[in-house]
Amino acid sequence: MAYKPIWAEDPTKLNKMELIKLQKDGLDVIRTMIETYAREGYDAIEEDDMQRFKWAGVYEQKPKDGHFMMRVRINSGLLTTDQARTLAEIARDYGRGLIDITTRQAIQFHWLRIEHIPDIFYRLEDVGLYSYEACGDCPRTIVGNPLAGIDKDELMDTTALVHQVNGFFLLNRDFSNLPRKYKMSISSNIYNSGHAEIQCLAFTPASKMLNGEEVLGFHVWVGGGLSAKPHLAQQLDLFVRPDDVLKVAVGVTTIYRDEGYRAKRHHARLKFLVADWGAERFKEKLFELIGEMPSRGDDKIVGWKAAYFDGVHPQKQEGLNYIGLNVPVGRMNARELTELARISDEYGDQLLRTTVSQNIILSGVADANVPKVLAEPLLERLSPYPNRFMSRTVSCTGSEFCNLAIVETKERAVQVAQYLDAHIELDEEIRIHFIGCPNACGQKHIADIGLQGTLIQTPKGMEEAFEIAIGGILGPGAKFNEPLKGRVKADDLGPVLAQLILFYKEYRCDEETFHQF
Ligand code: SF4
Repeated sequence: MAYKPIWAEDPTKLNKMELIKLQKDGLDVIRTMIETYAREGYDAIEEDDMQRFKWAGVYEQKPKDGHFMMRVRINSGLLTTDQARTLAEIARDYGRGLIDITTRQAIQFHWLRIEHIPDIFYRLEDVGLYSYEACGDCPRTIVGNPLAGIDKDELMDTTALVHQVNGFFLLNRDFSNLPRKYKMSISSNIYNSGHAEIQCLAFTPASKMLNGEEVLGFHVWVGGGLSAKPHLAQQLDLFVRPDDVLKVAVGVTTIYRDEGYRAKRHHARLKFLVADWGAERFKEKLFELIGEMPSRGDDKIVGWKAAYFDGVHPQKQEGLNYIGLNVPVGRMNARELTELARISDEYGDQLLRTTVSQNIILSGVADANVPKVLAEPLLERLSPYPNRFMSRTVSCTGSEFCNLAIVETKERAVQVAQYLDAHIELDEEIRIHFIGCPNACGQKHIADIGLQGTLIQTPKGMEEAFEIAIGGILGPGAKFNEPLKGRVKADDLGPVLAQLILFYKEYRCDEETFHQF
């Protein structure tokens, strides 16, 4: 039965985007509108439909001159080599060869033209990939453990669960009109590789004694999110068996759809509803919808490794290894992705794995083949042993392509990381995240050093600058970083950060890490 939007009873209480969504569902762009516009051309695209393009994973690129970005869902970061080759071919044929890995394990193209987008949809669908609902007010890419199935540090393989939840929500018109974007993670990694605290809904590893037996399952977190008003997710007092994950996901998403705020766009994320209700009321409402569940069990998260996997590591499977490679600021080209697919076919398990730290993992490499993989010329740039600062630098898209950006980020991030690597020797990694505006796609708040783009008036006029915040961390003791006073001109960022880090190096106590300083 088609879902009836109860919130639409009083349209005077809805923001403009809600009215656009009520006229036509965002999913209507796929197969119909976009194909029409592909024939009629860029100039024919109506403004409201341009908004709906997001449901197809398509955004207008900066400057607005007829080019588009597209995001492709890579749920849990798992990608077959056939899929990787298709992505590389699309980037080569239509996207000037450029491929970005996002902080949600997705792949992003640039430079696409409207007339090519239907062919891109078909090519993606042929290999079981979708850009659909990678953007828009709907359930997006499901973040997860990129090592699912091979991870010594996971309680269980979550691959099938991610597929199940993704399969339920993808293109499901009962859930294609949420108040705003909606982000889930499902991971059983004990180092919180799904970044649970910053998701709208997250499942993390847990166990509980039930009927005298230890059952492995999940704890549930709701209401996390970043942007201008960041919230850490709250844990609900319930334990979820693997078989009930989908039921809980549907229940939480239903609450958000029906009770979430739709009056003000900047106040529409699930985090605001959870903050107002509190975890207990939210749980009671969830139980009304899906029935009662056992209370919380033992939390199995023991720390946070920020989803970094660089280097060679043994897998769960005897004699096999995964090799984490650094992709500087998440950017690579079509030739490199094709090469990675070739290396995985030749020496690995025909899979590539993207990470929320914007990197990539080769897996299933037998002990005897590890030296051969390490000798591949491609690994000189996509290194398993990258320089310390480059290895931990994350960046959003920034003004190169993003219409919301205030400053350029990716190129700047590379320059700053190179500067720090050239000038500082340190015995620990410091995570540095760049964002080009308050929307925080580069997840500035969880970085050791978070950098948010802004502008400052100088004698030469307005110049790009950054605000600095320090000390963010997730996992046990999770907290967002705290802003330092003042702003730094973008051109001065390398030397200023070098001073900050050297100050830390000189005055830190034994065993103290940057976020504790
Ligand atoms: Fe664009 Fe802002 Fe997101 Fe960066 S943080 S990609 S500038 S919206």
